Amino acid sequence: MMRILIVEDEEHLARLVAEVLGREGYAAETAFDGRTALARALVEDFDLLVLDWMLPDLDGVQVVRRLRAADVGVPVLMLTARSQLEDRVEGLDAGADDYLAKPFAFPELLARVRALARRPPERIERGTVLAAGDVVLDPGRHEVRRAGERIDLTAKEFALLATLMQRPGQVFTRSVLMDTVWGGTTGAQTNAVDLYVHYLRKKLDREGEPSRVRTVHGAGYTFDSRPETFDPGPEA
Ligand code: CA
Repeated sequence: MMRILIVEDEEHLARLVAEVLGREGYAAETAFDGRTALARALVEDFDLLVLDWMLPDLDGVQVVRRLRAADVGVPVLMLTARSQLEDRVEGLDAGADDYLAKPFAFPELLARVRALARRPPERIERGTVLAAGDVVLDPGRHEVRRAGERIDLTAKEFALLATLMQRPGQVFTRSVLMDTVWGGTTGAQTNAVDLYVHYLRKKLDREGEPSRVRTVHGAGYTFDSRPETFDPGPEA
């Protein structure tokens, strides 16, 4: 289960956010000041921090800066007052991954959380076969089949599909896919992700059916695990 730490000194808001995230199936915990948040994030294994900028003692930017200095790469969604939005470069430089201006709507928060909750997929063990709908990926044999039919993929296409299939339905941002598939290679462009998604779709998808690799506008890509819900319409 995804562990999320919500850091917000307005305790009522912190608890409300925790409750909303809890209902979505996240394990959400709260901290009400920067020092506590930093101390916990340094030693505990969170998948995401929802971090308010304005906090007593250490502010949000200082917390992120210290986490990054300590090589803690947990994704950070920074909450800012609208008046601070123009300062967001400072927060990005400090290592925040995304921003959300307060006051925010919960669906917006949840969309950002889904995009960022990006615990790197666990290493695929040899022999752990991934299956979603009629697509089966066998890392041991380096083999992908759709409805029993073998599909030949290049190494990068295979790695991309394996990443997406480890968490069907989860949205992966381009930068996460870059990190996972290309290992954060400098020089590689994030549009390489789009290009390889294009290759993958050409090999994996069937004409006239929606792609199994779905584009989530403004967020990234997700593997659609429920093709059986596809309604072919009256002509079928
Ligand atoms: Ca605050």
